[in-house]
Amino acid sequence: MLWSRSRLSHRVQASETIPAVHVVVLAGGVGGARFLSGLRAVVHAPDRITAVVNTGDDLTLHGLRICPDLDTVMYTLGGGIDAERGWGRAEETWTVKAELAAYDAEPGWFSLGDRDLATHLVRTRMLDAGFALSAVTAALCARWQPGVVLLPMSDQRVETHVVVDTGTGTRALHFQEWWVRHRAELPAREFVQVGVADAQPAAGVLEALATADVLLLAPSNPVVSIGTILGVPGLRAAVRESAAPVVGLSPIIGAAPVRGMADKCLPALGVPTSAEGVGRHYGARGEDGVLDGWLVHSGDSADVPGVRVRAVPLLMTDPAATAAMATAALDLAVECRRDA
Ligand code: GDP
Ligand code: CA
Repeated sequence: MLWSRSRLSHRVQASETIPAVHVVVLAGGVGGARFLSGLRAVVHAPDRITAVVNTGDDLTLHGLRICPDLDTVMYTLGGGIDAERGWGRAEETWTVKAELAAYDAEPGWFSLGDRDLATHLVRTRMLDAGFALSAVTAALCARWQPGVVLLPMSDQRVETHVVVDTGTGTRALHFQEWWVRHRAELPAREFVQVGVADAQPAAGVLEALATADVLLLAPSNPVVSIGTILGVPGLRAAVRESAAPVVGLSPIIGAAPVRGMADKCLPALGVPTSAEGVGRHYGARGEDGVLDGWLVHSGDSADVPGVRVRAVPLLMTDPAATAAMATAALDLAVECRRDA
């Protein structure tokens, strides 16, 4: 039985068209990871969930390749996350960071814990040996057993840079420097995906999208997580052409992101910070967009032409609430599919 709730199990069993559910989720870091843990609780079959994760935040520091969103998802689903911080390893220590600071080794604004460093050492060593990031991620997951197939959006390097005003002109800086060092306080004019022209979806991504029964957009940052993934050449088209219903979950509740600073990103695209604004930005499939269904938080409303909108609680406060969100998303997907 693939679905936890009897109503859904019944529905799925009754439907000859969904013999074995394969759910593909586009996801960023913290919002994506938490949502995936809820989804994993309701889709009861190993490896029937594929997460396609943003790698636009990736960077190289001290010679090490760091993939913040992939690691957040891997540690969260593998039980190794520092739950309070939402990123990095539980029971972390900071000896190397203190030693680097003693050398005045830049950059001081990005924290790398001792336990976390082992992940970056293994990853960098494998990348240097010629393995693709997707293969490296699979190797790291052999330890963490996240219970979902974890794929980077691309095996090529695509790094998000932010164009900001300097007063006398503009300057581009790496997304992490803008986000972590400057706390997104420099107004963003534009987001640029450096390297995207030469990128393609990572090994396994197009196959996953083509065989998906349900496609979900996690409640992740619409600009620098979901937007970056959809910006990989061929990926948006594969989502649009998928036979599966596509349902998104709003990361915006009321007029603000639940956590984080997504509201610092949306204005650069002229998108209002609201569930309706983000829903319209994703747009209806068939009109240049990707959505069939859009979940907003109870009490919020959204008019997104051509998209079936539903309001349900969207606060990932605990595992039960997060699992209920996942069930609501699957429910809406089944309805959209029936409508098609
Ligand atoms: P990041 O890469 O770590 O920034 O994480 P994501 O891009 O996956 O997710 C960040 C987004 O998650 C933010 O825009 C938040 O608004 C959203 N988010 C975080 N917690 C919740 C929640 O409980 N409910 C909803 N609906 N969105 C959330
Ligand atoms: Ca991120």
